Amino acid sequence: MKSEEIKLIDSNGKRLDGRGPLDLRKIKIEAGVLHRADGSCYLEWGGNKILVAVYGPREAIPKHIQDQVKALVNARYNMASFSVEDRKRPGPDRRSREISKVISEALERVILTEQFPRTTIDVNIEVLDAEAGTRCAGLTAAGVALADAGIPMTDIPVACAAGKIDGQVVLDLGKEEDNYGDADLPVAIAPRTDEIILLQMDGHLTIEEFDKALDLAIKGCHIISKLQRKALLDRYQSLIEGGDIE
Ligand code: UDP
Repeated sequence: MKSEEIKLIDSNGKRLDGRGPLDLRKIKIEAGVLHRADGSCYLEWGGNKILVAVYGPREAIPKHIQDQVKALVNARYNMASFSVEDRKRPGPDRRSREISKVISEALERVILTEQFPRTTIDVNIEVLDAEAGTRCAGLTAAGVALADAGIPMTDIPVACAAGKIDGQVVLDLGKEEDNYGDADLPVAIAPRTDEIILLQMDGHLTIEEFDKALDLAIKGCHIISKLQRKALLDRYQSLIEGGDIE
């Protein structure tokens, strides 16, 4: 079906899933869900389900990959075969390599890598169910998992997309909006300073629309940042109550 044939916003200004232009999909975040990882997070965001496991800092092997002055940040984004409608061929492809690279670079901006020379910090991002916005969901979950692992960071990174559908700038595109919309602008920030650590764009926006979408995505990031902090507080509250930490 052609994009012009699909109305993504109805006459009452509602989107296909009933959201208004400024609404996020429902988000649920849980920290510390895996016992064998140093840090972990499970995140649901609309129809996305993402699991992140963090290992490290640990000695980088083989030795020749080691950086003598800082840790290597190695994010690996993987989409499960069963996570999308048309079964995905298992293993890395161009798209997952690109997403792994941009997420690694974003995380490097906030992790205090100089504290751990000659090590790697591995961030495994597994997409179990995908419904648009998985790089933002994966990076947001990675931020929580890194904090859960106790990795020193200047800030907990967070991501959110804005975009344009039916000529209107909206927050957090869903699947049909991503497929048939005009533009998608995933953004990640360090929320204390609003430093942009990831910014990509698919489609076309005017300069005014771009400014509006960027502003909206950053506002979305701040809402999600609160949910990340709550997930981490809940995790440590339960450890205190369970007597695991004092
Ligand atoms: N998608 C898919 N098969 C693929 C890759 C992506 O069905 O092999 C879907 C999936 O729902 C994904 C969406 O297309 O979330 C948008 O993909 P995009 O590359 O824009 O990245 P994302 O929005 O997930 O960060």
